[in-house]
Amino acid sequence: MIHLISDLHLTPADDVLLLRFCTYLKRLNPGDSLFILGDLFEYWLGDDACEYLEQDPVEQALTELTNQGISTSFMRGNRDFLVGKDFADRCGITLLDDEHLLQFDGRPILLMHGDSLCTDDHSHQIFRKMVREQAWQDDFLSRPLTIRDEMAKAVRYRSESGKTMKDSAIMDVTQSAVDDVMRLHGVDLLIHGHTHRPAVHPFSLPGSGNVHRVVLGDWDQAPSFIRLDQHTLELAHAGTSNHLVI
Ligand code: MN
Repeated sequence: MIHLISDLHLTPADDVLLLRFCTYLKRLNPGDSLFILGDLFEYWLGDDACEYLEQDPVEQALTELTNQGISTSFMRGNRDFLVGKDFADRCGITLLDDEHLLQFDGRPILLMHGDSLCTDDHSHQIFRKMVREQAWQDDFLSRPLTIRDEMAKAVRYRSESGKTMKDSAIMDVTQSAVDDVMRLHGVDLLIHGHTHRPAVHPFSLPGSGNVHRVVLGDWDQAPSFIRLDQHTLELAHAGTSNHLVI
């Protein structure tokens, strides 16, 4: 079975959330696959900062998971875009590029974090472009941890306060961006997170017919996840569950 999650926003301050995550992982079985579609962590300062951020319990949980034969893939989100190869190697997980094509039973499914689809959020797109550049990342990662922490906090708080001031419609995906990326990859199913608006969206893609966009939710109340099994997709969020025959 294939499992997908995103947007946990784990912080050391939230023990309940960490426990929720670890309890969820125990439900997976050897031979299953787990895809984490970004924002597992509230923020990340580099793979050498795991202990500093008190995220070593998460590293341990992921390592135990992969040691059990549960293949685990990680796509970076807009909060944890600095997760790198060192952390991945330590946990035995595979890093994915944004816009990953998952081959499921001969059918391609497009996986994304989702922030790149929010093209109406101009300030975020400018920030995203900057921090995804190798030169910016090299410079950031060369600084002492405490400086990195200060810089990340400044950005995070600005982003938080910015969010409340924006029209909520701007923070959702832009339909034309969804259409474009699905057409580019020739898929009829897109799964992403980021917007914290869990739903199954059927719509018509001109030239391609009926397609679906499925959105994962956050973990504030309960685990939010997708399960893919045979020909069924199940989206579970806050005690409710949506099924889609695929
Ligand atoms: Mn996000």
